Amino acid sequence: MGLLLFLMLSGAAFAADTMPPDAEQQLARDIYKEMIEVKSGFTTGTTTPIAQSVAARFKAAGFAASDIFVGGPAPNKANVVVRYRGTGARKPILLLAHIDVVEAKREDWTVDPFVFLEKGGYFYGRGTADDKAQAAVWVATLLRFKREGYRPDRDLILALTADEEGGGPLNGVDWLLQKHRDLIESEYALNEGARGMLVNGKRVEHHIGLAEKQFLNLRLEVRNKGGHSARPVADNAIYHLAGALHRLSTFGFDFQLTDITREYFRQSAKSESGAVAADLTRVAEGDAAAMKRVAAQSPPLNAMMRTTCVATQLEGGHATNALPQLAAANINCRLLPDDNVDRVIAELKKVIADDQIAISITTYEGASPASPLRADIMKAFNRITDTMWPGVITVPTMAVGGSDGRYLRLAGIPTYGVQGFFQDRDDVRAHGRDERMLVRSFYEGQTFLYEFVKALSH
Ligand SMILES: [Zn+2]
Repeated sequence: MGLLLFLMLSGAAFAADTMPPDAEQQLARDIYKEMIEVKSGFTTGTTTPIAQSVAARFKAAGFAASDIFVGGPAPNKANVVVRYRGTGARKPILLLAHIDVVEAKREDWTVDPFVFLEKGGYFYGRGTADDKAQAAVWVATLLRFKREGYRPDRDLILALTADEEGGGPLNGVDWLLQKHRDLIESEYALNEGARGMLVNGKRVEHHIGLAEKQFLNLRLEVRNKGGHSARPVADNAIYHLAGALHRLSTFGFDFQLTDITREYFRQSAKSESGAVAADLTRVAEGDAAAMKRVAAQSPPLNAMMRTTCVATQLEGGHATNALPQLAAANINCRLLPDDNVDRVIAELKKVIADDQIAISITTYEGASPASPLRADIMKAFNRITDTMWPGVITVPTMAVGGSDGRYLRLAGIPTYGVQGFFQDRDDVRAHGRDERMLVRSFYEGQTFLYEFVKALSH
């Protein structure tokens, strides 16, 4: 069905939240509900029931058993991979979503985080935004393609994976790359990491994620011979560390724009007005004074323009009546995609300016090269956005946080953050309490992703 015809037939359902969902929407909603109600918190939960249920749905829909894979590094960390066969004219596209969630405690929420609830135009539950909406929509989309007899010119590979939030040794994407790369080998992947932006309920921007920052933890450590605190000396481990952290607190790395962030500022200027719009445009043009003003006003935009390092944890001392023999801090850094660790450490050493402080790397997840601005992807993204939401500005972005995209990008599979779900810019609840998704946004995202995958596969 063409996009316009589809919009005519089902578009009415978007007009009012009270309209009952159509059959395709109902199926996506059912899958979504089932996924939300599985406690898949990455430390205490399991993704396995979700993986098994998804596998069963595809089996029932007539997919060959050999095209369905369920497996993972631990019994409670299953991933599911399903191959939708195309003609094979082009290399496959990977449709990725993670099915683990950040932990959620009933007492922290006003509703039960693991009971799917539709209320006041929203779906509530842990994972409604991050990332089970996309997981459910991918499943519903492939099942719909199958029912419609759609024959893409390439295989479409669905991978729903564990432990994105944990980021640890059981990460599903990392595990699949290591153990079963053939199952997910693809030309590029579509993943979370970007969305539509609502301001005061109005759709303003639609983002596509092309890059993300690199994740690095550093340990600053001072050792000292210590002694009795009744006979203090100036050479004190805690004072050394405190001085270093103070110098770090007033330091900022140089601003550095990339092709992607320059385009981000250029485009997002269009959805602002007055002095803000003017400053965003100046940032895109490389105006350092404007960068400084924008950085001072907006932590996320600051993070988009530079590598950042910030103190996140402290330890030190062993008794209230002893001079400290140890003082240490964790510094969490987020590097721009083309920055490098050695350069960052060398610059920090200069800022800290204290040779008693040893700096060591405790976590480095590796470089995450930006994905190319492909003409075919951008064209489809812009065209479907324009058709569904006339006037909405399309914006390429770099995520300042991380996603599973880093494993794929590092493995040579470019990854694009595309969701089509519009969410309030000023009310982001992913990882927080009372996580929710607009009902309207969920069904719109379903339409968008269906059309988008289709546009890229025929
Ligand atoms: Zn996520």
